[in-house]
Amino acid sequence: MSYFQPNFIAHGASVRVRFGAGLRHCVAEEIKRLDAQRALVLSTPAQADLANQTAQDIGASAAGVFSKAAMHTPVDVTEEASACARRLKADCLIAVGGGSTVGLGKAVALRTGLPQIALPTTYAGSEATPILGQTENGAKTTLTDPAIRPDVIVYDPELLSTLPVPATVASALNAIAHAVEALYARDRNPVSTALAVNGMRAFANALPRVAADPADIAARAETLYGAWLCGTVLGQVGMALHHKLCHALGGSLGLPHAETHAVVLPHAVAHNEAAAARELEPVSEVFGGGSPAASLRQFAEAAGAPVALRDIGAQRADLPRAAEDASANPYWNPAPVDRGSIERLLDAAWEGRAPGS
Ligand code: NAD
Repeated sequence: MSYFQPNFIAHGASVRVRFGAGLRHCVAEEIKRLDAQRALVLSTPAQADLANQTAQDIGASAAGVFSKAAMHTPVDVTEEASACARRLKADCLIAVGGGSTVGLGKAVALRTGLPQIALPTTYAGSEATPILGQTENGAKTTLTDPAIRPDVIVYDPELLSTLPVPATVASALNAIAHAVEALYARDRNPVSTALAVNGMRAFANALPRVAADPADIAARAETLYGAWLCGTVLGQVGMALHHKLCHALGGSLGLPHAETHAVVLPHAVAHNEAAAARELEPVSEVFGGGSPAASLRQFAEAAGAPVALRDIGAQRADLPRAAEDASANPYWNPAPVDRGSIERLLDAAWEGRAPGS
């Protein structure tokens, strides 16, 4: 199948990417390349040991460690981290972790102007985008600015060997969701489509091997490559109903980010299947036949992903609130979206029914 389009606009970004097992030990070279000398290392509390090891590796170029990154980038944590960066006279930021830590790095960079090096430890893909979601007083806002995007990404697949299998599978589906929505994005182009298809293919090939052996570094590398491609398209083209639903569920019900993506994706695809039939063909090709929604559901279930919102902490009584949030200021979507269809979709996702039922 050809992805060529006769007319398009494409956006590339100038980002330095180093990819390879063991490269986390070469971060000092990247700091030097940025002409920096005092790096502040960021992490979540759960990954503080990794941040300390990273600071040790960096040696004299480490100014300190800040390990309070949290999901959805709370502004109070960002302000504390920014004050820490100023106090330590840091001249660059190293984010070692998943989307939460990378988000903190972006938020501090936006306030301080410091250059960033990201070492991702999940497949979320935030390191490849100019997008920042922040929360303050319970409200989440999203902004896009080229200054937010990390300057350097160091992908070391060994960093993912500690990610437990359930978190691995959910995070992989989070990445796949970026690719799926890029296929039918209104502003897609042949390059974004090629990246999306190859990102999905990397996960289809290698995720079953990672689930069987989380320490299989070759399989981790292929999935991490997929995550880079999927994160790159997330930064290039607009997302639609699926991402809107996940933001609403994460924001209003506080559901876990990656797991929410894993449950909702086949349902959002079922909603869009008729309106974007041709665009979604690669999903069926990559994930093993059947309709795009059914093939994604089958792939997710085989990998052990959660399939019901009720199993990841959602209460049925809260669904109308999430439907309300998802219908307010809807993103562009290939199929029409109304409150009733969102309620039916969320109900099927809550129970874990077949997508589209
Ligand atoms: P996360 O960063 O919150 O990580 C989840 C947990 O897993 C944390 O406790 C973390 O310390 C731990 N963890 C991460 N990597 C690990 C590893 N290799 N081994 C062991 N434990 C590990 O989760 P996430 O799903 O990566 O990121 C979610 C956040 O990223 C959300 O806030 C979401 O909004 C944001 N996000 C933003 C973008 C963007 O472009 N702006 C894109 C994707 C996600």
